[in-house]
Amino acid sequence: MLYIGCHLPSSKGYLAMGKHAISLGANTFAFFTRNPRGGSAKPVKEADAAAFRALAQEQGFGTLVAHAPYTMNLCSADPSIREFARNMLADDMLRMEYTPNQYYNFHPGSHVKQGVETGIQQIAEALNRVLTKEQTTTVLLEGMAGKGSEIGSRFEELRAILDCVERKEKMGVCLDTCHLWDAGFDVVNDLDGVLEKFDRIVGLENLKAMHINDSKNPIGSHKDRHEKIGEGHIGTEALARVINHPALRHLPFILETPNEDDGYAAEIALLRSLYNESD
Ligand code: FE
Ligand code: FE
Ligand code: ZN
Repeated sequence: MLYIGCHLPSSKGYLAMGKHAISLGANTFAFFTRNPRGGSAKPVKEADAAAFRALAQEQGFGTLVAHAPYTMNLCSADPSIREFARNMLADDMLRMEYTPNQYYNFHPGSHVKQGVETGIQQIAEALNRVLTKEQTTTVLLEGMAGKGSEIGSRFEELRAILDCVERKEKMGVCLDTCHLWDAGFDVVNDLDGVLEKFDRIVGLENLKAMHINDSKNPIGSHKDRHEKIGEGHIGTEALARVINHPALRHLPFILETPNEDDGYAAEIALLRSLYNESD
């Protein structure tokens, strides 16, 4: 079974997202837990979350992959921004419990001249302060394209963060095909090699979700500009190998391509047609 979906607007609540996903042929999806530009979040309505949970169960949805706001920088050089980010993370962990046992993905952060080491320490410190034994959410570090001072474009950096987090059982990784490519990993000609390297450094058991995007730029560009499936430098064939790879095929795949509903529905249908159901 292929679990695939796209990023959906969250302003109308959970049940609306579930119905929206179904209308696109999706059986998982991503959403921002709050306005992606940051700021305070609308309270979650329990009745809406309950209606969504029933729908998701009935429809056999895969695990959702919520996305933290882009502005959440746990390793900002400014302590007040770090505190703001930490509070946002803590609040999101509470909000995520309305849909128990899902994934929450975030960009590790940009260290902005503090250095990778300091950044990694600050990210881990925030996670150590916020994650609780009781939470059912698994928090995913997203592998990044390496734009500016972004942490997480090297597997060693993801490993270093995981190593410093105490509640390792609450952590995982989400890889993004556009980010891998832009970071210099050749997912077109050497997917096996990339995954072997990931396994050696981070461990494939920690890989919980994939973002499936084409890239507007050549390998190693560090640009992070997503493209529609088949219209970028990665291409449809390589992305079909990603969704069918034995180490990946069971994971939730989230499209973050520049599309409206029609385009997402078409990409979901295309990837479903390229998925080998049998094995
Ligand atoms: Fe992301
Ligand atoms: Fe992504
Ligand atoms: Zn991206």
